[in-house]
This record gives sequence, structure tokens and C-alpha cells, in this order.
Amino acid sequence: MGIGRDWDNPEQMISVDDALERILARFSPLPAVETPIVEALAMVVTRDIISTVDVPPFRNSAMDGYAVQSADTAEAPVMLRVVATVAAGSMPDCRLRAGEAIRIMTGAPIPEGADAVVRFEETDERARSMSGAQLTRISVSRAITKGENVREAGEDIHANQAVLSTGARLGPAEIGVLASLNMATAPVHRRPRVAILSTGDEVVDVGPELLPGQIRNSNSYTMSALVRQAGGDPILLGVARDSSSSLTAKLRSVERPDLFITTGGVSVGDYDVVKDLLRAEGSVDMWQVRMKPGKPLAFGKIGGVPLLGLPGNPLAALVSFIQFGRPAIRKMLGLTELLLPVIDAVLTEQVTNAGGRRHFVRAIVERASHGLEAQPTGGRGSGLLAGAMHANGFIVIPEGRVVVDAGDTVCVQLLDDVLVT
Ligand code: AMP
Ligand code: MG
Repeated sequence: MGIGRDWDNPEQMISVDDALERILARFSPLPAVETPIVEALAMVVTRDIISTVDVPPFRNSAMDGYAVQSADTAEAPVMLRVVATVAAGSMPDCRLRAGEAIRIMTGAPIPEGADAVVRFEETDERARSMSGAQLTRISVSRAITKGENVREAGEDIHANQAVLSTGARLGPAEIGVLASLNMATAPVHRRPRVAILSTGDEVVDVGPELLPGQIRNSNSYTMSALVRQAGGDPILLGVARDSSSSLTAKLRSVERPDLFITTGGVSVGDYDVVKDLLRAEGSVDMWQVRMKPGKPLAFGKIGGVPLLGLPGNPLAALVSFIQFGRPAIRKMLGLTELLLPVIDAVLTEQVTNAGGRRHFVRAIVERASHGLEAQPTGGRGSGLLAGAMHANGFIVIPEGRVVVDAGDTVCVQLLDDVLVT
């Protein structure tokens, strides 16, 4: 897709959905790699996981109490002889016979001969120990049914059970399940390595004092955090000057990543550097996307590696990454839900949207008495990053919508790590 002559004419631009579709078409899930389960949070398994074991591995007590034969308690209250104690982590050293009870702790193996556990609270154990009496006998106050408070071997997971299917995403519970199967590692799609490069003669990295006319590099750090949040491994390449040679040198300073993300150098005034280089060394499309903030976007390949060129304006870079970079990283991770979750909320103040572009408005979403409310936040300029600091969502104003009034229901993309409480 070439560049339209009239930069501000929405007719010449491609839609957000179009741009996303073209970008995603160029990514696939990365190959499988055995990854330690402590590092595998939110990664996606590449094969079915079949249990080789029973969980729990043996019949055990779900309560602190007494192992009994349920038949003995049919005529409760009934007095039983306490013949042993079994703690979690040890094995009972005797068999339980009629008329007997074995003191048992939660997680301890059920002694042979027992078929139920009566909780301490349903015996006179407390009264006896308070009176200093020996715990050689115990009175059970109620009839206990067979199997009560007994956890069977394999009750949670049984051997040969398919516990996770190919494509399942590992959350905290899934990781715990893998540990209970004695799996120290899991086969998951590799995490994408994402190399991040800022461009601009005026841009200076964190460290030295700024000289007149210079600005601080914030984009690299925002991108690094966003890449990590999306599930990728960020690699910071620093800042390139606005020259082909500087750009080339920086892009070559990293061993083949899975994705390059650049910021700056794609807008009308100065896109030539990124564009020329990508033309010479790779293939790239320069797009004008019907969105705000953002709009200029470069996408292509250099040395066989996909490159996403985002605008330099910090807020435009952030919004563009979230719309295009995040889904690409998630696709490489093998996830199928690529887009941010979307909710409906009531707008608290009027928002206008001239220019026929899809407008992403930073917002704070909160629960109010009548449901969710979205409060627009931050300044208007696309460079105002500080205004995005407390936002937990983006209100999405459709391309054709010029005015949205307070009280109207709007669609809001919820940002990562946000819970609507
Ligand atoms: P550009 O897209 O290169 O024309 O940059 C647009 C605006 O974003 C300019 O005001 C730049 O100074 C600013 N900018 C570019 N790169 C960065 C960066 N890495 N960190 C902060 N601001 C930047
Ligand atoms: Mg620039």
C-alpha cells in the first residue's frame, strides 16, 4: 500500500482493522521450547499434557480428627478406643479394627481398616484434653457415613487423565497442577524476543544532561514495559540518529530477534530515514492508519525479521503498540485471544471526534452505583504521555462518530493488569 498524497484525508488511509489484519497475517506461533514452570506464566502449551500419576497419590484425611469404621458409629454417641496417631508425612503403623479409632491429621494416609474420618469437633476430644484426661478413649457424637472426610487417591487428577490440551494458557492453577505432576518444565511456545529502537537526532537516553534542543528517550522504556506485559522479552537497542548508517548499525547490533519495534521517523516530516533503509535492506509498507492518536505506521521485514515502525510521539507510540504490537506478540506466544477485553461503560463527559478517525481516548473506568463509568483523562496532544499514567482503559470512539455525549454508552478496551472492582 502506497502513501496517499493527501495526508489528512481519511479516504487515503487504511482502517485500524485492515492494518491489524495485514500485520497479524505475518506472524505465527513460535516453536516449542521446554521452559521451567516458574517462568511459564501466561505461556501456551504445545501439546496435550497427560497425567502419569494420581493426585492425591494416596487415600488421605481431609480433616484433623479420628479415622474410624463408619459402622461403629451407627448408634452414636459411641465410645471408641484410641490405638494410634498418624501425622501427615508418616504411614500408619497398624490396622484399624472394630471399636477402635486412630487419631489422624489432615493429609495423613487413611489407615487400613478405616473407611471414614470424624472431625475433632464431633468428638469429646476437646473436653477430655481440657480435663487432663488421657486420650485413650474418645466419644463420637454422631453417626459418620462411609467415606466422610476421606480424599480418595486420584480424586483431583487420575493417572492417564488429559489435564491440559494443546493451546491451553498457563495460569497460576495450571502451573500448580504441572508441579503436582512432577513436571519441572513445560513444553510451551517460545517467548518472542523483541528488539526496541528509538530514533531521532534530538533523542537522548537516560543518563547525560540534556543539551539545548534535546529531549529524553522515554519511548524505549515504555515499549520495554509494554513488550514485557504482552509476554515478550524486550531487548533495548538504545537510540539511533536520523541516518541510515546509525539505524543499520543499531538494528544489526542484536542477534536475530523475532520482532523489531522502532519509534520515530515515520511521520510526514522525517520518515525518509526509516523508509529508505527498509527499502534498501528489506521490504516495508508505509501506512497512514485511520486512528488517533497515531496514524503513521511502518510495517515490513528487514533481514527476514518483521519490523513495526511506530510514531515518535510517546502517546501515539503507546496506543499504536497496544493496537498492533501487543496482538502480534500474543500470536507468537500461541494465544488465540489477541485483543484487549472490551466492556461497555457510561461516558462521564462529552468527547468529540473530528477527522473521521478511530479515536482512542485514555480513560479511568470505575464501578459506579448504576454500573461502569468511563472518565476521559489526560491532555489532548498525542505527545502527552503523563496523561496516560493512571488510565486503565481506552474509550474507542468509532470513525464515523463526531460527538459522543455524557451519559452515552461507549466501548472501552481494558488495559492489561486491570481489574474492574
Ligand atoms: P517523530 O515521529 O520522529 O517525528 O517524533 C515525534 C515526536 O516524538 C517528536 O516531538 C519527538 O521529539 C518525540 N519523540 C521521538 N522519539 C522519542 C522518544 N524515544 N522518547 C520521547 N519522545 C520522542
Ligand atoms: Mg524523529
